Formats: sequence, structure tokens, C-alpha cells
Amino acid sequence: MPSSLLLQGPRGVGKQRLALWLAQRLLCTDSNPDIAVLGSGCGKCTACRYVAELTHPDLHWIFPRPRLKDSDPDLEQVRDDYAEATAERAAEHGLYAAPSGSEGIYVATVRSLVLRAAMTPAMGKRKVFIVGDADRMVPQEGADMAANAFLKLLEEPPADTTIILTSSEAGALLPTIRSRVVVVRVPLVRDDAVRAFVENPVVRKALDSKSKATVSERVRSAAGAPGRLLTGDTDAKATVNARRIVDAATSARPSLVHSTGLAQGSAGARGTFADTLEALVDLLGERVRDALHKKDVAAAESAANAVDAVLKAQTHADGNVSPQLITARMIRELSTILK
Ligand SMILES: [Zn+2]
Repeated sequence: MPSSLLLQGPRGVGKQRLALWLAQRLLCTDSNPDIAVLGSGCGKCTACRYVAELTHPDLHWIFPRPRLKDSDPDLEQVRDDYAEATAERAAEHGLYAAPSGSEGIYVATVRSLVLRAAMTPAMGKRKVFIVGDADRMVPQEGADMAANAFLKLLEEPPADTTIILTSSEAGALLPTIRSRVVVVRVPLVRDDAVRAFVENPVVRKALDSKSKATVSERVRSAAGAPGRLLTGDTDAKATVNARRIVDAATSARPSLVHSTGLAQGSAGARGTFADTLEALVDLLGERVRDALHKKDVAAAESAANAVDAVLKAQTHADGNVSPQLITARMIRELSTILK
């Protein structure tokens, strides 16, 4: 396992949850070699229990927070703020909504992270830092020292330190950060797994307090990213659009191609279109994995070519070409590749 990692994937897919499982595995004190196969920790040792309760002193979970009232908070204020926020997430069984637009990871937080990384572990042999929504790190005037120290930390973490960043906005992360981490793409979750998730009594209770939807409706609106059920639905729309494009490409019905192209909206909706293309990459990536799982090399290859076609469309979308035009062209191309 690399010591600096970036988990990248759609919002609500469970990247920070996965990071917590990895942290549990890393901090678990049960040396039974079987655990290596299972992935997460033993779940029984003291370390595992502390991670599950989010109280392990060597697990540092950082995520966007409202800016503190004090414009230059000291490390203790930052620590107290995160202790409180983490306790809140623990109390909600880890079922939290995406951060609001005004929340960020401010320089005082980065400073405290860098300092803690230099300390020896409090309880075990390692310490793990999870930085959720790492693209929300806020560059600030006079924060160069903290920023540089963080980059240096990513590049060469102490031997007993693992840093796991997560991001759902591929383009928003600073290239200086990206180039220092190993990127792992986290795919959408299969519908049967989403179903198991929404049927979990704890989850069900949390969702019932928000809406009266049925299990099937929830599985559908999660569209592979169960965290969306706790937040808004913009990403779900992107995935629905992406599925439409794949359906149009594989159905070979020109009328469908036409209406899907038009449904992408005009240049004004560029942001949404970029999301759709991102979702499309995820969806087709899923096809590659499925095909490989079934040992169908030919299908895997054509799905991989389809991913390439979408990546090419992405570069056009960055230019001044209309989304309708790109979509129509892409569907034609995908239909040749995927048939
Ligand atoms: Zn354990």
C-alpha cells in the first residue's frame, strides 16, 4: 500500500468510508495473516473498535468545516472543532451529507495536520490521516509555508504515516498535490450492494427521517452512489444522463440518439455536461471491470475503447464545441465500439 493515496470517484460512492476501512486495517493490532485477505481490520481488537467509534488517537479524519470565528485559530481550537465534528459523524453512524459550499479545509487545519504527522503514534505503531474532499483545501494569503510543508509530507511521509486523500472533483485538485499521490479510482457501487445498504435498519431509519421513498426508489435515485441519498441529486442526474447515452449507443435507435443529444442542454449547462462525461467514464469503467470479471476480453477491450472515446469528448467539451454536437458524435462513436 502506498503511503500517500488519492481515492477519486463520484460523490457519495463511499470514498471516505473506504478510507476508514483502510485505516482500520492499518491500525488493527491482530496480526492474524488471514486479515490481509479480508481487507479491513479484525473488527475485534481495541484498535479496531476505536476506529469504528472514531475515537482512535492515531486516526485523524479531516474534512471541510465552516471557517472558525477566529480568523487565525490556534491548533487547539482546530483540534476541538474536529473532535466535535467527528463525534457528530460517529453519532450519525457515519451517515453524513456532503459539505456545503461554504465549508473548506483551512490553513490552520493543514498546519495542524503537518504537525501531527511529525509526532509519534499515541497508541499503535502507525498513524493514518484521511483528508476527505481534499479539493476543498483553501489556498490563503501567507499560507505558503503550510502548503509547502503539506506537499513535502505527501511526497515523503514519515515511515509510520499513511495519508489518504479523497476527491470527487478530479479537476479541482491542485496538480502539485495530484502528482505526489497514487491515484485510485473508486467505482460506482452495484445496485444489489446499494439495496443491501438502504435495507440496513440503521440506514433505513436515517433515510426515513428525510423521505418516504421505497427501497427500490432509493436504489434507483442513488444511481450507484448511496451517499447521494443523504445529500442532493446533481450527481445522480449526471449518472442518469450517462446511462441514457450508453443506452442510446447500444440500442441503435436514431430517434433516441437525437433526443439524448438534445437533452444535454446548451452551452449554458457546461458544468452539468462535464459531470455527465465524468459519470460516463465511471459507467464504462464499470463495464470494463464486469467484462474482466467474466473473463470476456473482447468486451473489456471495447469498453476500454469506449472510455477512450469519452476522454476524447472531454477534451472537446473543454473547448467551445456545443454539448449537443459532442453527445451526438460520441453516441455514434460509442455505438460502433460497443455493438
Ligand atoms: Zn483489529
